[in-house]
Amino acid sequence: MRILILGGTHEGFQLAEQLAAQGGLDFISSLAGRTREPRLPKGQVRTGGFGGAEGLARYLRTERITHLVNATHPFAAQISANAVAAADAAGIPLLRLLRPAWTARRDDRWVAARHAAEAAELCRREGGRIFLTLGSGELDFFAEIRNAHFLVRMIDAPERLPLADYRVITARGPFTLQDELRLLADHHISLMVAKNSGGEATYAKIEAARRLDLPVIMIERPPIALDPRSPAVPSVEDVIAWITQQAR
Ligand code: NAP
Repeated sequence: MRILILGGTHEGFQLAEQLAAQGGLDFISSLAGRTREPRLPKGQVRTGGFGGAEGLARYLRTERITHLVNATHPFAAQISANAVAAADAAGIPLLRLLRPAWTARRDDRWVAARHAAEAAELCRREGGRIFLTLGSGELDFFAEIRNAHFLVRMIDAPERLPLADYRVITARGPFTLQDELRLLADHHISLMVAKNSGGEATYAKIEAARRLDLPVIMIERPPIALDPRSPAVPSVEDVIAWITQQAR
């Protein structure tokens, strides 16, 4: 058995750590190479794109991968579609580790947006001091907004962001509720924009918004390619159970 983990997430990291702790398993973690100094999990790690679904299928064959685990972020739609096609082409089983989405509580003030462009339109209408918790790839949609000041938090910040009025802070989660409450208060935030990533590592900001009665524009997840033969499971423990069963 030789496993490839498509990672770049907290769960991908945890999975590699747990497989390493178990011992005797042959696995490789794959990172896209987006962050300058990624937190590297234990075990073998490779970095960078494969060159589409064909490139990934080629890699699976060349490296004699027998099992593929897609532990990428719920918004990583392209690599997830590639994983389905490549596992099929290489004739190996695929498991999707997909953390459940957050659901609004009664005291949350969420406004749903289907994608970043719709979130930007809602921000333009609202204005104010807006905490944007998005990746650099999504900021272009907010470039023309003139009636808002944006606070942006990123792991690595480029020299300039495509925004008219902003402040950027670099930080890597997880963040505590106290961290988030302080940040929102210090920057007099009136509105937050978040992706429905799910999971615990970035949930504190959602809880902080609820405590402060702040509205949150919540970007819904993109449709994710799922092969009927490659089920999705919600936790690292489920992946370990699947691997154990496959190894029998
Ligand atoms: P994406 O749009 O689905 O993928 C774009 C391309 O990046 C893929 O076609 C692939 O290139 C390469 N790629 C993505 N993940 C890879 C991996 N784990 N190993 C090797 N290549 C990978 O992905 P994205 O949304 O830009 O996310 C990139 C990475 O950041 C993912 O690993 C994801 O788990 C992580 N991440 C994403 C978000 C988010 O909000 N999107 C948040 C946190 C972490 P090729 O076609 O050349 O193979």
